[in-house]
Amino acid sequence: MNMECIQVREIGSFEFTRVSLPQPGFGEVLIRVEVTGLCRTDLKLIRQGHRDLILPRIPGEEVVGIVEKQGPGCAEVSEGERVYVYPGLWCGECEACRKGAENMCRRMQIMGFHRDGGFAQYVLAPERSLIPVPLGLSAEEAVFAEPLSCCLNALEMARLTEGDRVAIWGAGPAGTLLARAARSAGAYPVNIEPDLRRRTLIGGRETAGAGPYDVCLAAVGDRQAYEEALQVLGSRGRLVVFSGLAPLGEQMMVDFNRIHYFEQTIVGAYGCSRHHGLEALERIAQGRVPVRDMISHRMALCDLGEALDLVAHRTGMKILLYPWNRRKDDAAI
Ligand SMILES: [Zn+2]
Repeated sequence: MNMECIQVREIGSFEFTRVSLPQPGFGEVLIRVEVTGLCRTDLKLIRQGHRDLILPRIPGEEVVGIVEKQGPGCAEVSEGERVYVYPGLWCGECEACRKGAENMCRRMQIMGFHRDGGFAQYVLAPERSLIPVPLGLSAEEAVFAEPLSCCLNALEMARLTEGDRVAIWGAGPAGTLLARAARSAGAYPVNIEPDLRRRTLIGGRETAGAGPYDVCLAAVGDRQAYEEALQVLGSRGRLVVFSGLAPLGEQMMVDFNRIHYFEQTIVGAYGCSRHHGLEALERIAQGRVPVRDMISHRMALCDLGEALDLVAHRTGMKILLYPWNRRKDDAAI
């Protein structure tokens, strides 16, 4: 049996093709992909490459689907159940794993990077990566669990507390989810966004103003955002490096005396751990982090090229791909 998928054989290109259906091995589950989310990381991975990418590869790290077939040794999930796939496969033994920071696992294997991902009709996943989707929650809302998990990890690294004033650079899907997640924790977020349309959608502002802010998060990898963030970070403020500084290898000067006198913290955030997935699904299911209004396009897998252009030009908001759809069904906001 074959399945349709997107395959990257070399950086800069991809093909819509058919490959044989993978079979679940011990502890693995075959998932029929219902929907897969497209994000900026996929654009980077396909067009420029990524530190963790091993070729050839089926990308796609935001996946929700239905359990199709279980391999030997699986007993936790049942056939027909809707699951969210935590994209990491962690060793469970290293120092990071023992601390519950699976995203820092030394032997981490990420779906869509080291292992084949969800830009396909089916995907294989280890059973322990699966999280059941709460009853009544649609696949297209549940698929936001992955990007929201990364935001929850960032807010955890920021030691966010109720009442914190939070500045977020960027008002795309990540910036919007960061703001909504911060608000659901009782903080006061504001998005800083140069694009008028996106700024208007979120009620953000063009510059950070004078501040000071308790937490600064950059969801855009540009130097100017980080420079501005350092200027408006208050005493005991936390700056989270959520988006890597682009281009790769770019460096910045930091005034260490300012960090010293104002007791500030600069901390990184990368990916998410499995428990963030549980928390993300709960917040979405309870309506504490609304996501449905963020879907700007619903597209078929074969239209990936067009979808990547939309991400590159920041035209849409969240783009969802449907591996079983052949028809274009765009719903622009
Ligand atoms: Zn580990």
